[in-house]
Amino acid sequence: MTVPLGLPSRLPPDSLGRPLRDLRISVTDRCNFRCVYCMPKEVFGRDYAFLPKNEILTFEEIARVARVAVAHGVEKIRLTGGEPLLRRGIEELVAALAELRTSEGRPVDVALTTNGSALAVKARALKDAGLSRVSVSLDSLDPERFAAMNDVDFPVAKVLRGIDTAREAGLDPVKVNMVVKRGTNDADVLPMARHFKGTGVIVRFIEFMDVGSTNGWRMDEVLPSAEVVARIDAELPLEPAAPSYRGETAARWRYRDGGGEIGVISSVTAAFCRTCTRARLSTDGKLFTCLFAERGQDLRAVLRDPSRTDADLAATLGGIWAAREDRYSELRATLKDRRAGRIEMSYIGG
Ligand code: SAM
Ligand code: SF4
Ligand code: SF4
Repeated sequence: MTVPLGLPSRLPPDSLGRPLRDLRISVTDRCNFRCVYCMPKEVFGRDYAFLPKNEILTFEEIARVARVAVAHGVEKIRLTGGEPLLRRGIEELVAALAELRTSEGRPVDVALTTNGSALAVKARALKDAGLSRVSVSLDSLDPERFAAMNDVDFPVAKVLRGIDTAREAGLDPVKVNMVVKRGTNDADVLPMARHFKGTGVIVRFIEFMDVGSTNGWRMDEVLPSAEVVARIDAELPLEPAAPSYRGETAARWRYRDGGGEIGVISSVTAAFCRTCTRARLSTDGKLFTCLFAERGQDLRAVLRDPSRTDADLAATLGGIWAAREDRYSELRATLKDRRAGRIEMSYIGG
């Protein structure tokens, strides 16, 4: 399938009628944390072979993919990883992306997901570079449990300081992402809700997912979002709130007393594939059309071939998107053998 070349235009939707609107870009496969559900130490140890430099897309290459994608319908870009703030000069990439305009002339929404470890140092520069929003992953407020979950003894106080700095820098509203594992940190759901209620920070509780093939995922370690909501509602009454936009991954709940809102991301118990408009670009330039894909399509070869133009890149993108039929989360329960070769979250980006 090819798409018309020439003037910028929206790409045709995928095989299930979903347009391409969001691009998540993993800028590094490295991380200074070893979260047990993402980069378990036994796998990502001293000998783990991370990508060599020449295989990693340069900022210019990333910006080119983003520019072409934005010219063809992408409205939101999220930088992720690995830990995106480990990539040297990340502010320069943010600045380049913040200059992009959609075909209707609107600025692109440039967001970033981080573990928060470097946010106290970087938040101001990121804001100045044009970053719109930041999501910070934080799985517990309890110093010991947090240290155990990041598995490198990183202090929770430093992440909290990073969140404060981000808010002071105007990266509002800061979202905090908490992955909930039953039996590991589910006791932290209520303390987390209490801590951020009334602060303007939006906590989003994420069901532990079977991404990758190294995190030892088991269904009985998933705390269903319905239970998260019930636990919070029992102490801090909640009511449902309308989605902010079509395709929002989090279901929103508002505190009845006006103390703000929370979100729940139910990728396991209430799949949202029907409205999934996301593509992911890996650190080495492969395009993945689903978080649970086993294979990505190589864009780097197109980018590094001097004879291939932006129109070629757009045509490649369009062809990949048009062929897309992913809906893994909807099918999860019916799949006999869950895909064994799924790529890791730290490589593709969350
Ligand atoms: N290092 C950054 C961070 O932690 O925010 C960005 C990359 S991380 C892979 C992106 C998000 O994926 C984080 O919010 C993380 O908690 C989430 N994540 C990683 N593994 C997960 C899993 N198995 N289930 C649910 N969420 C997961
Ligand atoms: Fe690193 Fe983020 Fe994965 Fe934790 S979730 S190991 S911080 S990439
Ligand atoms: Fe999108 Fe794949 Fe997740 Fe479904 S499982 S919401 S298609 S990324």
